[in-house]
Amino acid sequence: MILADLSLQEIEDFVVKKGLPKFRGRQIFDAIYNGKGLNEISNLPKNLLEEIKAFYPKYEIVKKLVSKEDGTAKYIFRFDDGNIVEGVLMNYKYGKTLCISTQVGCRMGCKFCASTLKGLIRNLSAGEILGQVLLVNKDLGGGLKDRKITNIVLMGSGEPLDNYENVAMFLKLISSSDGLNISQRNISLSTCGLVPKIYNLADDGFNVTLTISLHASNDEVRKQTMPIANRYSIDEIIEACQYYFNKTGRRVVFEYTLIKGLNDGKDCANELIKRLKKLTCHINVIPLNEVKERKLKSATRKECYEFVELLEKGELSATVRRTMGEDIAGACGQLRNSYLEGKI
Ligand code: SAH
Repeated sequence: MILADLSLQEIEDFVVKKGLPKFRGRQIFDAIYNGKGLNEISNLPKNLLEEIKAFYPKYEIVKKLVSKEDGTAKYIFRFDDGNIVEGVLMNYKYGKTLCISTQVGCRMGCKFCASTLKGLIRNLSAGEILGQVLLVNKDLGGGLKDRKITNIVLMGSGEPLDNYENVAMFLKLISSSDGLNISQRNISLSTCGLVPKIYNLADDGFNVTLTISLHASNDEVRKQTMPIANRYSIDEIIEACQYYFNKTGRRVVFEYTLIKGLNDGKDCANELIKRLKKLTCHINVIPLNEVKERKLKSATRKECYEFVELLEKGELSATVRRTMGEDIAGACGQLRNSYLEGKI
């Protein structure tokens, strides 16, 4: 356990149990949310710092790369046990979106993804997921009372719904009015489609933007790149999305990476139209970021626009997702690998 895993009240209970006055809890909470390291805290007595040392978060930013093209920043975070994950900060007209990780590695095994090459190493705790936001907020000159980040996407390494309890707690912490108070409406949770967990998310009262990594228009094609397709069918995923929409009123987003010769045909577009027509949703078509360990090739940007046009003709809402910060690292998930190999 680290103190960042806990709510304000839980931190207060923690200090009271240690025989300390309750207001110390608020001070510790403020320090954590201001992204301070233990040695940057000046308003707490030495013996108290000693007392909480073992539980105070020790995550940190160990590398930051900023794109000269568009100001996108890529971060490498390191945790207490030496494990690292990456995050990306993107500048949009409406604000700043931070992409963060929920696991070190991933066990979903998608063939196009770099995060899964070495399997799952471990889950991140709620506080370790939160810490990525707090560190970047501080790096931008912000703090608890001055939030610089407007949107969050859980699209870094890991499968959020494979780490459900910790991700659920993170969502509560980040949207709490005690903390950074980021509305769940401004948070996207991206999943390869762990169907029962989508129902849990809806039933537990969350209303984040549910984003599904679909990447295929039928189960046979999906099975070729995504092992999870052997477990849950596209129809089951769509049914769960409909349930989520009914509960939350939130439009569901589908991510569709366009892979040359695999899922980029006109027949695929038509199949998608047929399947998604009844659901209130949006489709993000993404050129594949080629991963050097894999043989899959991307469709061109032009082909992505053509694919979107086909979907729009079928009255689906669709756009080509912008790619950002291309000059500072390769594909999604590859920054971590470069760092581990000592290349950056
Ligand atoms: N496990 C979650 C979140 C992490 S992946 C999920 O599956 O959604 C975040 C997004 O990046 C997903 O849509 C994923 O499919 C996509 N992605 C992964 N590798 C990619 C690549 N090489 N090129 C383009 N998009 C990729």
